[in-house]
Amino acid sequence: MSKPLIDKGLIIVISAPSGAGKSTICRRLLAACPEIEFSVSYTSRTPRPNEIDGKDYYFISRDDFQRRIDEGEFVEWVENYGHFYGTSVNAINDVLNQGKDLLLDIEPRGAKAIKKQFPDAVFVFVLPPDTDELMKRLEKRGHESQEAIKTRFSQANSELKEVLWYEYSIFNENLETAVQQMISIYRAEKCKTNRLHGKIDRIFKLY
Ligand code: ADP
Ligand code: 5GP
Repeated sequence: MSKPLIDKGLIIVISAPSGAGKSTICRRLLAACPEIEFSVSYTSRTPRPNEIDGKDYYFISRDDFQRRIDEGEFVEWVENYGHFYGTSVNAINDVLNQGKDLLLDIEPRGAKAIKKQFPDAVFVFVLPPDTDELMKRLEKRGHESQEAIKTRFSQANSELKEVLWYEYSIFNENLETAVQQMISIYRAEKCKTNRLHGKIDRIFKLY
């Protein structure tokens, strides 16, 4: 077997229809596992009242986004609800090459593109307990018009079908259970032998 370099970081991709509780679960995972970095996406949508530029997203204009697409800055990007969203290729590689783990909160089309380019990534889908509860949570977020909520709710049905190709699914009924499941998935993935070849070799020289 060839001698491994340092173990590259793990990419964790988490997707869900809007309102399922994905942001809440991501926040809790990052708080419990501070070694994970969050991949800050670029978007052309405007910030919500509680959002911070550079922390939640890099908020940029459509023109700036288009220029970055043309310059090949994104490993994946989509147009969603009339806005652009994308992940910077440099940001991903910088983190992974340092052996750090990276959490991507992205929708299924982007997740599929990541799967093609990073087949070792782990893919987790968050499901609401049922569609009535999904609608209630969308309304509870309280930062969108009734029109925007309706659009997101109708898109949820097509996004839900994508769950079938994800490796892990979490039903976010009880938040504490869902958070524990997310942390357990991460911890189990970190114990996979094929992710630890570099460390094993450094200690036991098996190669
Ligand atoms: P998403 O990022 O998937 O759009 P959020 O994390 O913003 O969803 O959650 C949507 C709303 O549902 C928020 O008000 C959040 O506090 C609430 N929520 C999240 N998980 C649960 C849960 N398990 N039970 C009840 N409410 C929840
Ligand atoms: P929101 O506008 O609610 O923050 O996000 C809308 C959707 O865009 C969510 O499903 C979120 O996961 C997704 N999203 C956020 N950033 C990216 C990204 O960089 N790429 C892709 N493909 N989707 C993203």
